[in-house]
Amino acid sequence: MSTTLSDAQHFCWKTFIKINKRFDQKRGRPWDPFVMVTDLLEEAGETAAVVKGLEGFKPPDKTKTKEMLATELSDMLYIIFVLAEHYEINLEEKFLETVNDYIIRFLT
Ligand SMILES: [Mg+2]
Repeated sequence: MSTTLSDAQHFCWKTFIKINKRFDQKRGRPWDPFVMVTDLLEEAGETAAVVKGLEGFKPPDKTKTKEMLATELSDMLYIIFVLAEHYEINLEEKFLETVNDYIIRFLT
């Protein structure tokens, strides 16, 4: 059985909702779209730091690995899926349109 992007988007959203319901005064406020976007930018920064380390542009305080990059990319994908679901965007459909646009623009 394979997982589609739509399946992954729905799964991330369900997980997000469960986590968000558990927030309370001790753990902090539930996340809204503004916090989601802020988190996405934070994860993008973490991704950039790992790539910088992997490519040798910054003496790493801690060795960067492909596994670390995979984790950061997954963090970004999770929050992208959550944002898409929040705004009722079919990301799978849009993503395929986008790739098709790249093919038409650069490969034809
Ligand atoms: Mg991260």
